[in-house]
Amino acid sequence: MKTNNEIETIANSVLSKYVKKGGVHKVFQEIMHSEKIKYKEVNSENTDFVGALTKNKDQAYIFVNKDIDNIGRKHFTIAHELGHYFLSHNLHSNLGFCTNSDIAEEEHQKNPIEREANYFASCLLMPKEKVKTAFLSILENRSRKRIKDFLLVKNDYTFGVWLSIKNDLTKRYGVSETALRFRLKQLKLADFQFEK
Ligand SMILES: [Zn+2]
Repeated sequence: MKTNNEIETIANSVLSKYVKKGGVHKVFQEIMHSEKIKYKEVNSENTDFVGALTKNKDQAYIFVNKDIDNIGRKHFTIAHELGHYFLSHNLHSNLGFCTNSDIAEEEHQKNPIEREANYFASCLLMPKEKVKTAFLSILENRSRKRIKDFLLVKNDYTFGVWLSIKNDLTKRYGVSETALRFRLKQLKLADFQFEK
């Protein structure tokens, strides 16, 4: 079992090794190549299969279900499987896999191994300091300094501000809105009481 701080430190060390500029999703292939992980998108009859990290002798593989059509969800899945790898989870020597409910962008997750991999994915895709800086700068511009350091989405005005932030950051980090919302709540930058 690892603490969130330990997990974040490991994610940051991967980031400083591989990411010079932009989001980590742009260098997934490079990371896997350099760690000698083979990556495959596969067709599966099993709709519950999302992703897997498996080892066969000395070769590691990441498999991802070909049918994931949300690009943010696909990135989160790869980051989650990289989490199992970099956190040295000793799991699938058999053909186990991670299901839809294992890979939860909102972290409603009881199984500690899966929870750790989800937290790692969040930290890897949306590094704390970078997200914070980007978030605060859009917030300042978009709200003309009316809102300073925390966005509570609770009416049309704040929802408009949120749309600007969402459009920018989901693209920049290659994540889904769900994953972004959760990370911002976790970093105590935003909360949501209003939906449209
Ligand atoms: Zn998993």
